[in-house]
Amino acid sequence: MRHLALARAATAAGVIIAGASAVLWSQTRDQVSRPEVFWFKGNLHTHTLNSDGDSTPDDVVRWYREHGYHFLVLTDHNYLTSVDGLNALHGAEDKFLVVKGEEVTDRLGEKPIHVNGLNPDRFIKPPGGTTVVGMVQGMIDAIRAAGGAPSVNHPNYGWAISPDELAGLQRTRLFEVFNGHPLVNNIGGGGVPGLEETWDRVLSSGRLLYGIAVDDAHYFKRPEDKTLPRPGFGWVYVRAARLEPKTLIDALERGEFYSSTGVELLSLATSATSMTIAVRTERQSKYRIRFIGRQGRVLNETTASPATYTFKGDEGYVRATIIESNGKLAWIQPVPVGSSAPR
Ligand SMILES: [Zn+2]
Ligand SMILES: [Zn+2]
Repeated sequence: MRHLALARAATAAGVIIAGASAVLWSQTRDQVSRPEVFWFKGNLHTHTLNSDGDSTPDDVVRWYREHGYHFLVLTDHNYLTSVDGLNALHGAEDKFLVVKGEEVTDRLGEKPIHVNGLNPDRFIKPPGGTTVVGMVQGMIDAIRAAGGAPSVNHPNYGWAISPDELAGLQRTRLFEVFNGHPLVNNIGGGGVPGLEETWDRVLSSGRLLYGIAVDDAHYFKRPEDKTLPRPGFGWVYVRAARLEPKTLIDALERGEFYSSTGVELLSLATSATSMTIAVRTERQSKYRIRFIGRQGRVLNETTASPATYTFKGDEGYVRATIIESNGKLAWIQPVPVGSSAPR
């Protein structure tokens, strides 16, 4: 597997990444001198028999370990699965890690309200609420109080959370721009925007959110049944120095990752003035790299890789979506640009 080392540089805009250089990482620590940071592949949303999944935590972890992932967060509905035994069995330093999590789950009328808590210290009881924003914010704050990182799940599942409601939330950085469950309405419809458009509306309102892609896998025993939420559809690559829960989650909350349904990168370099993306191309596929700014405006679209977009200063933010010719996607996280940048 090919991984990247990227040097960090601090600027007035905060910690950013500069000077990408590709290195080969064998994953066997003894064989190479260890570069400063790596890309770790992980799934942030998974169910087991501890809620409504069809497999034991052991079988679920085994699936991800055997399919090239470096980490997995177990997020059963209102249940915090212990990961100590799972890591004793499947964990390996810098190769594989299970992170604890909980999908804090409630309902407001017909609307399912679900917020993931990543790596909380303890079980979180859904705090209730009488409005969508109130209930989601209560979950976010309860997750923070338990030392976890919140992630707002599948906003279009049950058409539960509108772009304006998402934009009204505080103290969260992560939401699901893609969820692999077949009933979550990722691309919107009937006048409700898809999650990319939702993301641009939230960013344009001044709120900085990062978009994750996840499986939300429940079924591991029936891989042929396309109507079921199964594994292997959405993931993140996190840029981090170590495969350790807090290090990974801090990197996610700084936007040091990209999300994917199949497109992988060779390099990603962002500075205060530009973004450069190089795609790891498949021989039979063709690619478009689309740079996007405020209100979802396409700033540039190119078929070249690597591709660089140089900031002009009035974009508000710059993010990118990479589109593969069979529909696989990757999402590069927004970089705030200029005085009206989201925060
Ligand atoms: Zn859910
Ligand atoms: Zn779920």
